[in-house]
Amino acid sequence: ARLANQIAAGEVVERPASVVKELVENSLDAGATRIQIDIERGGHKLIRIRDNGFGIDKDQLTLALSRHATSKIKSLDDLEQIASLGFRGEALASISSVSRLTLTSKTEAQSEAWQAYAEGRDMAVQITPASHPNGTTIEVVDLFFNTPARRKFLRTEKTEFHHIDELLKRIALSRFDVAITLKHNGKTVRQYRAQMQQENYVKRVAQVAGKVFEQQAVYVDSGDERLRLYGWVLPVGDKTEPQYTYVNGRMMRDKLIFHAIRQTFEEYASGYDIPGFVIYLEIEPRQVDVNVHPAKHEVRFHQGRLVHDFIVQAVRQAISFEQPLELA
Ligand code: ADP
Ligand code: MG
Repeated sequence: ARLANQIAAGEVVERPASVVKELVENSLDAGATRIQIDIERGGHKLIRIRDNGFGIDKDQLTLALSRHATSKIKSLDDLEQIASLGFRGEALASISSVSRLTLTSKTEAQSEAWQAYAEGRDMAVQITPASHPNGTTIEVVDLFFNTPARRKFLRTEKTEFHHIDELLKRIALSRFDVAITLKHNGKTVRQYRAQMQQENYVKRVAQVAGKVFEQQAVYVDSGDERLRLYGWVLPVGDKTEPQYTYVNGRMMRDKLIFHAIRQTFEEYASGYDIPGFVIYLEIEPRQVDVNVHPAKHEVRFHQGRLVHDFIVQAVRQAISFEQPLELA
């Protein structure tokens, strides 16, 4: 079992940022509205994620750490819709096989919290009483301590932390309603406050993608519940401005969307290369395949042409009120 877990770990756990990704997705799946991330030494030393989600029952703690134990797939239907973000049931098992992992949790129904500890080699999980508010804290210490080959591939503290920061930016832009804080070596590096009103979302966009978004971005909002595009497009700036695209709430790097936005801007000011955008496409789930390459963030639209033209229309409409750009 240990070997199987470590092999699986190779796929799931590439570096500290992949651990953070899995754990934060679990917190979101658990309905958390507040997530605190503490990192020490780029995640080599410590990754701690604390959430206020619904927690894990005492008698589910061991199970949560075992392979293919997921509480998230109830039927094939669920699988097809990928209602929740994680669905493989092996992230915790994989992470604990290459680190010293402590899982502390309390559900609302329980009067006290419980803690499970698992450490690489020894998959026997110990359960002890603990103190913790409703929710879950997962501590991952000494990542790759027992897989030296993998440990060797870790980059500098600064680089690994940068990957974590970038990952959390993408997540922060997918869940405006969740408060997220990120600390590195005890110092608060990011603090994303929960934004409940759509008109305030731009504050978080500015925090993540740059102040220029709050000052100069054009807001796009078109379509209906079958196909909708909204978000922010920058008609100014330089080529280094960030570009984020989401399809049904998931971060995607999609050529079709990029192409459609670029085409619109070329019409608007020919030769002008679009500098930045934060764009959300909402489409009927059956019109899209998102699970072709879960790790590559790719998506396939069944009616690509239609989606492309819709995006062109939506962005064109939004920027038509703007003064045409003067090109240098
Ligand atoms: P998956 O997310 O694919 O189900 P994981 O290995 O990531 O598999 O997690 C295993 C199980 O542990 C989850 O199905 C869930 O029941 C539980 N779990 C993990 N993290 C949390 C959390 N932060 N809050 C509540 N439950 C959690
Ligand atoms: Mg998961």
